[in-house]
Amino acid sequence: MILRSFASPGTHFRIVPSGSPPSVDGLAITEPKWLECTECGARVRIDGPDSHTTTIDNLPHERDCPQRDVVSQWFENTFLHG
Ligand SMILES: [Zn+2]
Repeated sequence: MILRSFASPGTHFRIVPSGSPPSVDGLAITEPKWLECTECGARVRIDGPDSHTTTIDNLPHERDCPQRDVVSQWFENTFLHG
């Protein structure tokens, strides 16, 4: 298995904001809610700054997604140490 950095130019992920008011999901409309793989569209819920459980390793990628092996270093740096 070849590990690639999440921050490398060859990888494509995006943060998707909630899009719904706090009364729906507890998040403001512009707060990050989903981490999405732009290759296959897989999404994983971002649990918030206190959670250490959400990483891109949890993304339910399609079987043939080219980004399945991307590690979560970028995510950790951004959400856990930022
Ligand atoms: Zn994917």
